[in-house]
Amino acid sequence: MILRPAQIGLSLLSATSHDVSYEELSNLSIGERDRLLLQLREGIFGPCITGLIRCPECSELLEVSFDVSDIRIESSIEPSDAEGCLHLVSEGYEISFRLPDCADLGAISVCEDVSEARYLILRRCIQRILYQGMDASIEDLPPNLLDSIEERMAGADPQADVLLRAVCDSCRHEWDAVFDIPSFLWREIDSWARRTIQDVHTLAAAYGWSEESILGMSSWRRRCYLEIVSR
Ligand SMILES: [Zn+2]
Repeated sequence: MILRPAQIGLSLLSATSHDVSYEELSNLSIGERDRLLLQLREGIFGPCITGLIRCPECSELLEVSFDVSDIRIESSIEPSDAEGCLHLVSEGYEISFRLPDCADLGAISVCEDVSEARYLILRRCIQRILYQGMDASIEDLPPNLLDSIEERMAGADPQADVLLRAVCDSCRHEWDAVFDIPSFLWREIDSWARRTIQDVHTLAAAYGWSEESILGMSSWRRRCYLEIVSR
């Protein structure tokens, strides 16, 4: 099965959160999803994250290392009204909107370009527009107000957009690199699973043990046997 990028984070949470339905997880804001994924990552592999990023100027690969706590933003979403909406009042308009959630991310996966995706997210999230007290539509809104709504969304869900300040060792270029916890954790789990399968194969071939008995060992014992086999 090939998962679309928008499904990866939810699939990881769904596989590990047995008391929460997929539909409930779909209603999480992007920041809420990512906060749970950071918690999951810390529980599986520990708090220290090390990865590689490529300098956009000179293409040098750089190692970055940081702690989950360095990027965890504890401040939660700003208070909404009873309907879960945020509000923007400007230029005679009163706009009620909710934050983008995981279902919205899934919906834009069929969009052909960024501007179509942006418009679809806004269309799904804007709940009501009044202009001088009368109902209005998204087509009536000036472009600068669409920008303002997106800024308010980003400010209200800061965990959704984690940027790492990076400096290239080679060319000294400085930039903000995006850290995407769903795809990072997915790659980590994938490579861990491949390493485990390789270890099972090595021990099964050397000792004739079953997969079940090898996986039932502590990782320390497994590592000891693998060292013996590799001598
Ligand atoms: Zn560079």
